[in-house]
Amino acid sequence: MTALQNVTFAYPNQYLEHAALKDVSLAFPSHQITLLTGPSGCGKTTCLRLVAGLDAPHSGNVTRETTSISYLFQDLSLLPWLTALENVNLVLSDRKQTHSRALDYLTLVGLREAANLYPAELSGGMKQRVALARALCTDADLLLLDEPTRGL
Ligand code: ADP
Ligand code: MG
Repeated sequence: MTALQNVTFAYPNQYLEHAALKDVSLAFPSHQITLLTGPSGCGKTTCLRLVAGLDAPHSGNVTRETTSISYLFQDLSLLPWLTALENVNLVLSDRKQTHSRALDYLTLVGLREAANLYPAELSGGMKQRVALARALCTDADLLLLDEPTRGL
């Protein structure tokens, strides 16, 4: 079970009374898809960052049963100097051997023809698909997807 228990977290420029998360408890059961919904600014991204360990709570506990985590960032974080294929291949362990696997995942998201294009040459939805392929191709135990359907 992955969980946040009574977690409070404020960003460096936030006063604690305006903390992004105040005494939040959430459970992400194993072998299930958990969907977080809520208005903009309610703390969805912050929850995912804490689960991933990118930020640490001021109080409360984060429980993880794995450190094998794949994360689709809300801002995608594609590297502009790499092609779509190279952006996906970047996260695979033996990069020389894995071009075909990276291409399989680009094909899965409908972007085989765009494999050699750079992020600046892709539409918003195409960039989203590259980031999705990169998040999916690693076989991580825990997949954290922030706004995965944006632009699709
Ligand atoms: P959501 O993903 O649900 O739209 P966030 O988790 O991104 O919401 O944001 C929760 C709160 O934290 C908001 O009030 C937002 O203004 C604030 N916040 C988010 N990121 C930062 C940051 N890097 N620095 C300061 N405040 C932030
Ligand atoms: Mg968000």
